Amino acid sequence: MDLTTVREVCDARRSPRWQAGDAWLAGGTYLFSEPQPLLRRLLDLERMGWEALRVTSGGLEIAATCTVTQLHAFVPPGRMAWPAAVALFGPCCRAFSSSFKVWNTATLGGNICLALPAAPLIALTAALEGECVLLAQDGGVRRMPVARFVTGAGRTALAEGELLRSVLLPARALRRRAAVRRASLRPQGRSAALLVATVDPGDGTWRVTVTGSTTRPVVVSFDRPPAAQALREALEQAVDPVGWVDDVHGHPAWRRHMTLLLAEELRTELADEERV
Ligand SMILES: Cc1cc2nc3c(=O)[nH]c(=O)nc-3n(C[C@H](O)[C@H](O)[C@H](O)COP(=O)(O)OP(=O)(O)OC[C@H]3O[C@@H](n4cnc5c(N)ncnc54)[C@H](O)[C@@H]3O)c2cc1C
Repeated sequence: MDLTTVREVCDARRSPRWQAGDAWLAGGTYLFSEPQPLLRRLLDLERMGWEALRVTSGGLEIAATCTVTQLHAFVPPGRMAWPAAVALFGPCCRAFSSSFKVWNTATLGGNICLALPAAPLIALTAALEGECVLLAQDGGVRRMPVARFVTGAGRTALAEGELLRSVLLPARALRRRAAVRRASLRPQGRSAALLVATVDPGDGTWRVTVTGSTTRPVVVSFDRPPAAQALREALEQAVDPVGWVDDVHGHPAWRRHMTLLLAEELRTELADEERV
């Protein structure tokens, strides 16, 4: 799609001063997919040169410019060391309702900042206790959990001109056992519910992250693996104030039903693995 109001595309490495009508350009899979009448200038992140995936002593740093393809190809340093990465990276990337063309271009940063309820990389990084690293126009840096950064459908905590630099996944979250479930109206359709549950094999702490069916990520945690009734009640209580998504990809009542069903499947899957 031609963006007829855009007058200039700047290389973001030159740190152009932020102006009204500016937008960061990452993969452009959303920006070029529909009219953007308010945009005048695009600040292109393509040549920032940020390492896509960096294993650190604290965990994994994923650059905002990391593409879905790069994330999908990531091989953890030890398959046994980071079971959550093995269990989740592939299915969450494949939850993108799109072609290889989009996979090769769409970025982590674009997916999180666009903040669609069906954003699979929000599900992944919120479930793995990811922290956004945000760069302000005045050079300030702040950090915020992904689960809090996304504040609603299409809404985030980004300030004017702020840039998402990377997401940090702590090693302790990557060491948890994890499982994922997804529902959509059609096999290749947009996720109507995307849930990830993780459990710490050491202390038994258990958490489920709900996305897709809710307007923003909902995280429910327990000190130990919950009973079915406790999980159901906690989810209903946590989601009510946030709300169930109502759009062409699924009726809210169906999304609620699928969320509770998938959460129960996750609970039994992680409990069964424990017994093996
Ligand atoms: C066929 C098709 C299928 C799709 N399927 C899905 C799907 O299943 N789920 C889904 O969630 N989305 C989907 N999308 C929407 C979109 O492609 C993805 O959300 C994608 O991840 C956006 O990433 P991008 O790098 O292309 O972002 P862009 O289009 O470049 O940018 C998206 C938004 O984020 C801002 N932005 C980008 N990077 C940063 C940054 N680092 N810091 C601050 N702001 C930033 C931009 O200014 C813009 O507002 C689909 C799109 C298409 C065309």
